[in-house]
Amino acid sequence: MIQSSEPIDRWVRPNIRQLRPYSSARNEFSGEASVWLDANESPFNEPYNRYPDPLQWGVKQRLAEQRGVRPEQIFLGVGSDEAIDLLYRIFCEPGRHNAVAITPTYGMYRVCADINGVEYREVPLSNDFALRADALLAAADADSRLLFVCSPNNPTGNAFPAAELERLVADFEGIVVIDEAYIDFSSQPSWLGRLDDFPNLVVLQTFSKAWGSAGVRLGMAFASPTIIGYYNRVKYPYNISEPVQRYALAMLDRADEVRRWVTDILAERSRFSAQLGALPSVHRVYPSDANFVLARIDDAERLYRWLVGEGIVVRNRSSVMLCGDCLRITIGTAREMDILMEALRRYHKTD
Ligand code: PMP
Repeated sequence: MIQSSEPIDRWVRPNIRQLRPYSSARNEFSGEASVWLDANESPFNEPYNRYPDPLQWGVKQRLAEQRGVRPEQIFLGVGSDEAIDLLYRIFCEPGRHNAVAITPTYGMYRVCADINGVEYREVPLSNDFALRADALLAAADADSRLLFVCSPNNPTGNAFPAAELERLVADFEGIVVIDEAYIDFSSQPSWLGRLDDFPNLVVLQTFSKAWGSAGVRLGMAFASPTIIGYYNRVKYPYNISEPVQRYALAMLDRADEVRRWVTDILAERSRFSAQLGALPSVHRVYPSDANFVLARIDDAERLYRWLVGEGIVVRNRSSVMLCGDCLRITIGTAREMDILMEALRRYHKTD
């Protein structure tokens, strides 16, 4: 069912609702022409002399076909980080509104709240990293505008049950953001198929993980055309450069190859998890729906430093809530995981 977008408009900051967005030369004329003298560009150095398409319709068209959504349900950002930051700028009045989120989770939700002067309310997962939908809803009040859930979650690696997430999207009186940065590695289905059911749902995805393109900085927000319309008003006019748009189109043609990369990473994740779990100092390797595993280890800090000495860098998450003595280990190639396992076996011999 498509519901009225009225509440969405009411949740938008008045200055954004009333904003007259910047109108670029490419906005004002985007048809065909043979002589372009409207944007103070150089006539030399094609194709980089021209400003890129501000709304990236070519990329959105291909992405829409691939993900089964409509182009007007897509925002492209400089990483998902831009998509996160803009949500605060669209929906949260500094010093007045608040955001609710699970903890532990991806750090940028809080950093963007802090930058924007927005109160950030953290609701801990249970000790076994389960979502507490009741507690999240109880933490919200009439000034809560955003609710962040990362699924599969970073750094815990687990995806949350669809029924629990659906309760949040249905019952939260504001925007629910489901960050699916790691969805390609998960056995759970994406929420993209439910966009038309929930006008308050924003699904984040990224080219940085399964798509092997962290260096180009390209993230996606999928949402109702109303929310995407607000994104388009607030973003920098030409946020996605011409080289990145070209790169994205080329990358979208390589979907089969990306699927093979994912298959390899998943195989490596199970092989490595089993080997890691067999080591004496490893108490627990948490089940993962992502391209990393979280493991609880005797004196994680000491092992972390020892690995750095061997030239191997993992992420020490020991200081993060519920993650005491936990290391987060990204799944690399079979060879990289073998190097790590050899080092771990040596560490246990010298222990
Ligand atoms: N969401 C999650 C859950 C992440 O873990 C990360 C990066 N580690 C991002 C978003 C950021 O993605 P991007 O590179 O697209 O900014």
